Amino acid sequence: MATINKNYDKLAAGYLFPEIAKRTNAFLQKNPGTEVMRLGIGNTTEPLTHTIIRGLQIGVEKLASVDTYSGYGDEQGDKRLRKALADRYEKMGVKLEPEEIFVSDGAKPDSANIQSIFSEDSVVAVQDPAYPVYVDSNVIAGRTKSFVNGKYEGLVYMPCTADKGFFPDLPSERVDLIYLCSPNNPTGAVATKEQLKMFIDYARLTQAVIIFDAAYSAYISDPTLPKSIFEVEGAKECAIEINSFSKDAGFTGVRLGWTVVPKTILTAGEDASKLNSLWNRRQTTMFNGASNIVQEGGLASLTEGGRRECQSLVSYYMENARTIKEGLEKLGLKVYGGTNAPYIWMKTPNGTKSWEFFDKLLNEAHVVCTPGSGFGPSGEGYVRFSAFGHRENVEKAVKSMQDNLRL
Ligand code: PLP
Repeated sequence: MATINKNYDKLAAGYLFPEIAKRTNAFLQKNPGTEVMRLGIGNTTEPLTHTIIRGLQIGVEKLASVDTYSGYGDEQGDKRLRKALADRYEKMGVKLEPEEIFVSDGAKPDSANIQSIFSEDSVVAVQDPAYPVYVDSNVIAGRTKSFVNGKYEGLVYMPCTADKGFFPDLPSERVDLIYLCSPNNPTGAVATKEQLKMFIDYARLTQAVIIFDAAYSAYISDPTLPKSIFEVEGAKECAIEINSFSKDAGFTGVRLGWTVVPKTILTAGEDASKLNSLWNRRQTTMFNGASNIVQEGGLASLTEGGRRECQSLVSYYMENARTIKEGLEKLGLKVYGGTNAPYIWMKTPNGTKSWEFFDKLLNEAHVVCTPGSGFGPSGEGYVRFSAFGHRENVEKAVKSMQDNLRL
């Protein structure tokens, strides 16, 4: 008799975005014909650039000829792409072997799957608030107990609060796996080298491993802020980095990402290359490689012309971020992030709860945001605005908030 993985039943009610969709649809049913402006989800809206489209076309054309056709490729990714990514790190002063870089179909699957190479009894620490995948993947894997009062028992929450610049203190208890995300989703905070160094030193001392999600690294324009954790001394002994082509190249629907597992990470009682070989084993067993067409597109995005074009996509979204941030500030609201990150994190006024403000914003201004409480207990009392959207929609949404929101 088959029995189910009961850990799924522990997952807190509804994933955040389906709940947002449910409430938005209910509003539209009650108010047919109303235009709803969405500043909620971090989904790209602008078309792929010329160079990337040409790269994808090359990928398609290769499949049309017997001489250039390819079937299954390396599970770890096209060697040219792994080399191009290693070259990109080298420009940041980070030396990696292409064999330390694993191409995938995106940062979400990698950030969900990476926990599987660690022992079942690992103690996991997450930033609070955090991108929900880190928590949910560990719940499903059985590393937590029940969800009680907004928290999973057995999980270590590292509060990220305004007074600390939304970066956590070191955990006060011993932990084995630490998830960090910078630029952060949802707070838009970016970790400094000193802040990362504090966690790296802790991880080296305790043989913990940091899983660093850098999916928004392209949004950092301040040259003093690290785009990769490997820019900080000691990280190659204790950190795995996950990144994506989604947010700078617009591959949210195309699907391509990568994970760096250095061959120098120290784990209890194992060779330094063990984690690298385990992730290789995991990927070769459970993944058949990213699409060859898509990898050609990814390769094109890493050329000089491709980088320039991606940079202008990033600038477009960052101009949206500025519009939202300034618009909210004009309303007298307290906002964070939005300068080196595409997310604006707003304190709800007068102690309003996150979902309450979500409903108010939808009803009064017809604008959709994301309730901060959906990202963890410390997100309560905040909402997130996303800078991903067409300029005219963003401007319309900001105007509607200024004209209609009753504060
Ligand atoms: N990591 C973070 C922090 C994200 O916010 C997202 C998407 O919103 C992802 C990863 C997903 O990236 P991908 O599209 O490569 O799966």
